[in-house]
Amino acid sequence: MHYVQPELPYQEAALEPAISAKTVHFHYGVHEKTYIENLNKLIVGTQFENEDLEDIIREADGPLYNNAAQAWNHIFYFFSLNPDGGGEPDGELRKAIDRDFGSFEEFKTKFVDAGAKLFGSGWVWLSKDSDGKLFITQESNAGNPIRSGLTPILTFDVWEHAYYLDYQNRRADALNALWQVVDWDIVCTRY
Ligand code: MN
Repeated sequence: MHYVQPELPYQEAALEPAISAKTVHFHYGVHEKTYIENLNKLIVGTQFENEDLEDIIREADGPLYNNAAQAWNHIFYFFSLNPDGGGEPDGELRKAIDRDFGSFEEFKTKFVDAGAKLFGSGWVWLSKDSDGKLFITQESNAGNPIRSGLTPILTFDVWEHAYYLDYQNRRADALNALWQVVDWDIVCTRY
């Protein structure tokens, strides 16, 4: 299988001021492009050559796992954002957020806090288990909750490359700004 990087459904500058055009360019146009190129090189001649990306994330290790997970995580992240996003989730996801975190405001605080306190590079995730219970988890480096049997709903990238050009060391500010551009219509369909 040859993986192709999907075009973003918005312009590089469309997420400003939450994320600058320069950050989208380097993050999606350079970093993500490289993960996908590495993935395409690394799967050649392995048992994973014709597997779905999710199965590679569940089963592979080492550089193949790292590049497969990073390829998947960035597409999931960037396709959760939209210049017309923001606001609040509704429907079943909103009910589950209120049930499992108390309120949408409390969920946002806990999610950003988990991302801000994650040591080093990684991702903060909102996922559900097979019963629909929601979890906020911190994953280091390329970590993805698919590997733990959870279904991802939303993620924020906390690698420095995701925010340093715009926010320098202010990771929590960078994460809080993302609420302006989360596309809850898409995110709610994942619950
Ligand atoms: Mn990233």
